[in-house]
Amino acid sequence: MYRPVNHGYIETIIGPMYSGKSEELIRRLKRAKIAKQNIVVFKPQIDDRYSKENVVSHSGDSIEAIPISNSNQIYDYIDEKTQVVGIDEVQFFDDNIVDVAIDLADQGIRVITAGLDMDFKGEPFGPTPRLLAVSEFVDKIQAICSVCGQPATRSQRLINSKPARYNDPIILVGAVESYEARCRKCHVVYH
Ligand code: ADP
Ligand code: ZN
Repeated sequence: MYRPVNHGYIETIIGPMYSGKSEELIRRLKRAKIAKQNIVVFKPQIDDRYSKENVVSHSGDSIEAIPISNSNQIYDYIDEKTQVVGIDEVQFFDDNIVDVAIDLADQGIRVITAGLDMDFKGEPFGPTPRLLAVSEFVDKIQAICSVCGQPATRSQRLINSKPARYNDPIILVGAVESYEARCRKCHVVYH
């Protein structure tokens, strides 16, 4: 795909779980590395055990990433040499991540973000809608529906193997929770 040279811009990769967002992010970042570009990769911090982690795809690809708990921490790791910034799981950041992405692009950096466009309810997820609006390039990719095999655009939340309810709490103590990719027709949210 054609991209401008020596200009900043934002690329966003969106889709449901298992659609290959991390895979695609890693692919683009590895190519930038091959081109000897100065890259730095971020992901939201889930816990504070490690200072360095990886972005890992479900197929096993990985690239080193810095876990951050606040979008402004990105500024601590970039300098005038930085050419490419990758951000995975962008939906988990606050709205300020969009302002940071805009600022970096304005400074001439290629910003590549990846994340969920919808939550398990099928509703727009956190900062993603605004990020899509300001991105120069958007790739919406699909997984395979685990029920019917058609292209999947949604993430099905399952609690003890049953579709989650709209108002189920984010953390359910003692329940076995899982996610799978589903198409519009097979995606179920009980009200
Ligand atoms: P995402 O970041 O969108 O969650 P990943 O890049 O981590 O996706 O993983 C994509 C990989 O997941 C695929 O290449 C495939 O190997 C695997 N996979 C597992 N389940 C599915 C599914 N239902 N549809 C597509 N790929 C799947
Ligand atoms: Zn389906």
